[in-house]
Amino acid sequence: MNDTLNLKPGQVKGDTGIWEMVIGLEIHAQISSKSKLFSGASASFGSDANSSVSLVDAAMPGMLPVINKFCVEQAVKTGLALNAQINNTSVFDRKNYFYADLPQGYQISQFTKPIVGEGEIVIDLDDGNQTTIGIERLHLEQDAGKSLHDQHPTKSFIDLNRTGVALMEIVSKPDIRSPQEAGAYVKKIRSILRYIGACDGNMEEGSLRADCNVSVRKQGDAFGTRCEIKNLNSIRFIIQAIQSEAERQVDIIEAGGKIKQETRLFDTSTGETRSMRSKEDAHDYRYFPDPDLLPLEFSDSWVKEIKGTLPELPDTLKKRLVNDYGITDYDASILVEEKDFVDFYLEAANGVDGKLTANWMITELFGALKKENIMFLNSPVTPQKLGELIALISKGVISGKIAKDVFSDMMVTKKSPSEIVKEKGLEQVSDDKAIMKLIDKVISENQDKVKDYLGGKDKLLGFFVGQVMKLSQGKANPGLVNKLLKESLK
Ligand code: ADP
Ligand code: MG
Repeated sequence: MNDTLNLKPGQVKGDTGIWEMVIGLEIHAQISSKSKLFSGASASFGSDANSSVSLVDAAMPGMLPVINKFCVEQAVKTGLALNAQINNTSVFDRKNYFYADLPQGYQISQFTKPIVGEGEIVIDLDDGNQTTIGIERLHLEQDAGKSLHDQHPTKSFIDLNRTGVALMEIVSKPDIRSPQEAGAYVKKIRSILRYIGACDGNMEEGSLRADCNVSVRKQGDAFGTRCEIKNLNSIRFIIQAIQSEAERQVDIIEAGGKIKQETRLFDTSTGETRSMRSKEDAHDYRYFPDPDLLPLEFSDSWVKEIKGTLPELPDTLKKRLVNDYGITDYDASILVEEKDFVDFYLEAANGVDGKLTANWMITELFGALKKENIMFLNSPVTPQKLGELIALISKGVISGKIAKDVFSDMMVTKKSPSEIVKEKGLEQVSDDKAIMKLIDKVISENQDKVKDYLGGKDKLLGFFVGQVMKLSQGKANPGLVNKLLKESLK
């Protein structure tokens, strides 16, 4: 059992030794577009069933798909952000299958000639290390509709609102080696998508979901047979599902069995995966170029134009934060993870100590929001008010300790720190005379300790500082108290 504790992430201990996980992810990202990929119907989430369905989406005979330029632009933008090859010519194929929520009888997707080819991204791991994960390709495709099985005792209903909504499928190479790396990979992709605005990355609403391909092998061996876990919509589930799937595969192989390539579902109540269907091979889908659509072609200059609109991406931004604001790599990686975090930080740190701002934001603000269960965007403390608090600390108007009380007050009252400091009279006392008065009082009341201190018990200085601070109700400038005490006790 003890050995299990020493396993590295991504390792599974079996009876025959240690196994290694091999993982590849297919991420489906819904493009933040007002209309669908090939029709003008609204792509918004949450409208009444079947209220955003055009004749194209309903697959009425004779209807023709028309490509949405905005969606193509987002795919190119994403490709550029993933450091990937942009293919100026790509082809839409029909992927044929029958499903009740797919009225066309096929999905328009891209198969052999996707819009984006190979690329790579750097991911940040919890231990502060980084690693590079290859991107196999990114293609454009339509989403399917939704079957509703819980609305009627004997019938299933179909909602076609989602039919035809634009998705980007981002396929990784099998470069991922642990559930934690898979989580970090999804976080990084989500963060990039949010920076460039191509997808809102909202996993609860299903705008971003992942299929996880998992196999196991002994280190150095060839890749094993993979199983695909479909449609995971949270990073926590991705981590749990991969771990339990890898353990399931090790058990089977060690018992003398073979892994069947199949599609599995993750059961969130048991934390285990179960079989859904055997995996189709590409030839089962009878892919062929969609005769209703010409190959998608665009010029280098258009790609260049799009490149010019890319914002500063998390990796470069992180370097800039470390260099210009003097914060640690680790703090910077936390701040750039979400665009909302970094926007907040840049505004708060404007003109004040960047390092102190990062500390306060990551420790105090994040901590308080978590404790109160408040979403970051609803923070009662605004960037401007946090910056103001930092300035008060740096200028010595309040001590760090008092600042914590002020901060708690800001969380509740939404008041500005200066207002709170003024109302409660919390300004730090940095006046020699006022502090000397307190020191004299403490010294005269503790003559025996003064004797001990002068007799060599240096440690007692802390006691005196504590007493003076207490007398001042925490408001005395601690540095000054220290200095004046030392002088007085000579
Ligand atoms: P499919 O359409 O069959 O799902 P894709 O090419 O879209 O195929 O995706 C295959 C995914 O499986 C990729 O992310 C790839 O990295 C991953 N993969 C391929 N081989 C293995 C393997 N042996 N173990 C784990 N993942 C794998
Ligand atoms: Mg696939």
